[in-house]
Amino acid sequence: MAEGTILKALSGFYYVDTGTAVVTCRARGKFRHQKQTPLVGDRVVFTDLGDGTGALDEILPRRNQFSRPAVANIEMLVVIASGAIPVTDPFLIDRVVSIAESRNCEPVICINKCDLDAAETLYQTYLAAGFTTLRVSAETGEGIDRLREVIAGKSCAFTGNSGVGKSSILNALEPDFGLETGAVSEKLGRGRHTTRHVELFRLSNGAVVADTPGFSSFDTELHELWRPEDLPGTFREFRPYLDQCRFQGCAHVKEKGCAVRQAVKEGKIAPSRHASYVRLYEQAKEVPEWKRK
Ligand code: GDP
Ligand code: ZN
Repeated sequence: MAEGTILKALSGFYYVDTGTAVVTCRARGKFRHQKQTPLVGDRVVFTDLGDGTGALDEILPRRNQFSRPAVANIEMLVVIASGAIPVTDPFLIDRVVSIAESRNCEPVICINKCDLDAAETLYQTYLAAGFTTLRVSAETGEGIDRLREVIAGKSCAFTGNSGVGKSSILNALEPDFGLETGAVSEKLGRGRHTTRHVELFRLSNGAVVADTPGFSSFDTELHELWRPEDLPGTFREFRPYLDQCRFQGCAHVKEKGCAVRQAVKEGKIAPSRHASYVRLYEQAKEVPEWKRK
């Protein structure tokens, strides 16, 4: 029996990385019977048949699991934002950050295009909220070493709206990536965000990165299943204040005497973060109970 990580799943084959080799595995029938599907990112136990192939025996317990993209065990979500025009809407950042927080996945805020704009407000907002926040430029290479350090040895996914420079950053991190950047693929006239295929790439610093063309919509359907009461805990800088509101059944939206709102007034919580919270809260309230799991 050997252990490894599924890097790629394609047409019923699972490419399992043991750290020293990649073994092409088939899943045993029991997975089908148990309606259990191995995912990219899964840690698995398999039987090595010695000829480069093997059979999956067991999926080890997952840290987390995402459905879009279908990937497991993501420790870190690198959220790429653009500090230059068009500046990324903080709401989009906050939504994916909340999703990551709810899944035991550490968000890292990476503000790109700092050669054009230092994005001071965006930078201070996430730094003050307690996130690892980086300013980088894929163009000049500034901050790329720091990003490489932050993700070293981690299993991570990169998310960001089209045009923020996600492919440029991945290429700057590891030139072997050879991803097409926007300009090139537009010339080829095909959509870049059409594939569903997910694959993990091992970088030379030991990081494992999911390149997921559809990541700009990173599991966004999931937040629609949230209960309003699950939301406050996914805003990490709210946590110290939540206890003070607990016995009043406070929603932290517009209640009088709300400790979270007080913290916003005192400049301890960024207004944009609270605004995102209110927006997600209102959305969560609209979800009919039958839709929730
Ligand atoms: P993606 O859609 O997020 O993968 O974005 P791309 O990597 O394709 O980049 C979109 C455009 O932004 C391209 O024209 C890049 O050359 C440009 N770009 C990416 N990163 C930077 C940066 O740090 N500074 C500047 N000035 N332009 C950048
Ligand atoms: Zn409150």
